[in-house]
Amino acid sequence: MRNAKIVCTLGPASRDPRTVGDLIAAGMDVARLNASHGTTAERRETVETVRSVAREAGRHVAVLLDLQGPEVRTADADPVDLAAGSHVDLVPGDDASADSVGVSSSLAAVCRGDRVLLDDGRIETTVEGVNGETVTVRVDSGGTLESRSGVNVPGVDLGLDSVTDADREELALAAELDLDFVAASFVRDGEDVYAVDAVLEDHGSDVPVIAKVERADAVENAESIVAAADGVMVARGDLGVECPLEQVPLIQKRLVRRCREAGVPVITATEMLDSMVHARRPTRAEASDVANAVLDGTDAVMLSAETAVGDHPARVVEVMTDIVRDVEASDEYAELREQRVPAAADTQTDALARSARYLARDVDASAVVTVSESGYTAGKVAKYRPAVPVVVVTSTERVACRLALTWGVQPRRADLDSTSVDDVVRTATTAAVDSGAVAHGETLVVLSGMVAGPDGPDATNTLKVHRAAAVLATGRAVAGGRTTGPLFPVPGDGDLSAAPAGAVLRLDASFDGEFEGDLSSVAGIVHASPATTSYPAVVARELGVPMVAGADLSAAEAGTRVVVDGDRGVVYDDATGA
Ligand code: PEP
Repeated sequence: MRNAKIVCTLGPASRDPRTVGDLIAAGMDVARLNASHGTTAERRETVETVRSVAREAGRHVAVLLDLQGPEVRTADADPVDLAAGSHVDLVPGDDASADSVGVSSSLAAVCRGDRVLLDDGRIETTVEGVNGETVTVRVDSGGTLESRSGVNVPGVDLGLDSVTDADREELALAAELDLDFVAASFVRDGEDVYAVDAVLEDHGSDVPVIAKVERADAVENAESIVAAADGVMVARGDLGVECPLEQVPLIQKRLVRRCREAGVPVITATEMLDSMVHARRPTRAEASDVANAVLDGTDAVMLSAETAVGDHPARVVEVMTDIVRDVEASDEYAELREQRVPAAADTQTDALARSARYLARDVDASAVVTVSESGYTAGKVAKYRPAVPVVVVTSTERVACRLALTWGVQPRRADLDSTSVDDVVRTATTAAVDSGAVAHGETLVVLSGMVAGPDGPDATNTLKVHRAAAVLATGRAVAGGRTTGPLFPVPGDGDLSAAPAGAVLRLDASFDGEFEGDLSSVAGIVHASPATTSYPAVVARELGVPMVAGADLSAAEAGTRVVVDGDRGVVYDDATGA
């Protein structure tokens, strides 16, 4: 179990079903598809692969489609060497030579003296002149320009649409496939995020939008971006080209903090384990980079080329998982988490979620279990960073997958048909035990958001300390249903005249008689014999009461209140679950 989630970019090295399975096994929580590369058809196929492999693995894995945005790239052409001191024309087109390089959009808005950076800033140039659509630059530091390299013009508005035609095509795909997230590239402010929302809305879709902060003006407008977005990505690749490199570390820390305090999931991205594109071990600096992001409380750490085109994608995820786990087990991590719990915001759910965090600590609970239909309550619980796992029970696959990005959350899908508080708490407890976060007999804090039934919301905003009942015996499920009642040891002659109302009949393995007396007092049956076609089994089915066979309750005293779960074949001690 981990708090910080892992986002893996899928690409030629990793989009086949087998590698996707390996990545999931190694710890991938979110699969990122980068629309700057490959085709829409490839992405459609990859989405299907991720979903079917995750389903088979019984894991909730989110799919994030990262839009290209108003990004300029060089032509899809053979690599060319650009020598320092040489002059090159940058002009819209599809060819590239040492004299003239095609770019995907016009750079005509630049002025003499502006800097134009190619290939993630590895090749630096300065504008010498602009003639129509042709921009002539002097190469300050040269190098080999690869096909489709990124072009950055820091501080210059090139007048490109914030949502391009290519983005619209991808957004149609995201809406059609109901993806878990889209990431909006090169947003300048909150308005650019809303522009992406609006396109999705036109498709009748509400796919959450992650805003990538990768421009200097986006850093300045962080407040409006965090308010508008469903999540934020600190996209350090372009950020380190658009802003002075030395500013990136603090921009990252401030953004993570701002998002944490607002309860907005934040991804720390790019070059986290970059040397592992080829190497089998990361550098010390990379290991420290991942560790520091986790210590800062990021919701997720991201892998790009490492998993998309790297030599051993699953191994990189294993290494990242190990680093995250180690940091999260440290005293330093625990201390920081306790020191920076955000102040309660003004919603009732915020107050309850913050209380749940402290309640879990004070009653020594094993988990906070959250019942959350939309994911809203789950997000609030994660915001206050409890010291124990946050198991979230939700009724749709869609919400469970979207929660895969959120700090500390272990999503579980379960039917939430009933709106009674008892039923909701029971469903939540069962899910928490199934997740492995809570063992029978342990304490948990249950926070239920709004659960709307046919008669309106019922189990709304319930905060409860609960014990996951201790198991008395397990056996075979014979007749379904669940009941709670006093244990009545049935004598060998089957006489039920002394059985209290709502009794759970306890039968020894040797019982082979028939029941005598009023069967309406019988609420459930537990038989020490494993037979499922015995006389008591026939009676249980006829009466429609739960029955467990092969469960020895000889150590439990008459009158003990027990819970018979006929669906799971388990008998619990009701007293420990009160
Ligand atoms: C980045 O620039 O860091 C980033 C994540 O964006 P992209 O990979 O699309 O360049």
